[in-house]
Amino acid sequence: MSDTDAADRLRSLVRDVADFPSPGIVFKDITPLLADPRGLATAVDAMTAPWVDQDVDMVVGIEARGFILGAPVARALGAGFVPARKQGKLPWATTAESYGLEYGDDVLELHVDALVADHRVVIIDDVLATGGTASAAGRLVASTGALLVGFGFLIELAFLGGRDRLGGHHVESVIVESADDEPLIERGVV
Ligand code: AMP
Repeated sequence: MSDTDAADRLRSLVRDVADFPSPGIVFKDITPLLADPRGLATAVDAMTAPWVDQDVDMVVGIEARGFILGAPVARALGAGFVPARKQGKLPWATTAESYGLEYGDDVLELHVDALVADHRVVIIDDVLATGGTASAAGRLVASTGALLVGFGFLIELAFLGGRDRLGGHHVESVIVESADDEPLIERGVV
């Protein structure tokens, strides 16, 4: 299967839910993809492939769907997995970064001892929208002194320009949704 075939097949397994969680947002529901054995395997393989020769030590998954995709990517890379969680969810001492979301504001935290200075880290999430969340995760990783190898996403909403907020780091997305794909009103930008 070519990369384009794989992306098309995965795209067909993502359900667009209009006006969730708020009016004007088209939510990319990946639960049909996760429930499809071939779809799940294809998605994890495609999200792993860019990093196989990058000596990745740790995959940081962003709550909550970044956990589902990040852990199997970490396993496939022979790396460890570190959760980046919403405020107040991690039990140990944390370091925190606040960020603006496509639909609200939030705080992301890492355990203070989760990463060390010589770790090579990839950050994984399901959707890159405005880039605020991933950018906060990137700042968290940088604050530990670890080396950020790059960001990996299943879906990139390219018309929201999130990639531009990721500081020129290596960004990989399996499915890229361009501005032409959906009318403006459904893009969460008006
Ligand atoms: P952003 O910070 O704007 O890049 O938003 C990315 C985060 O919000 C990710 O953790 C996504 O899971 C979630 N997210 C943002 N927009 C959407 C969307 N349209 N569909 C599904 N998840 C989204």
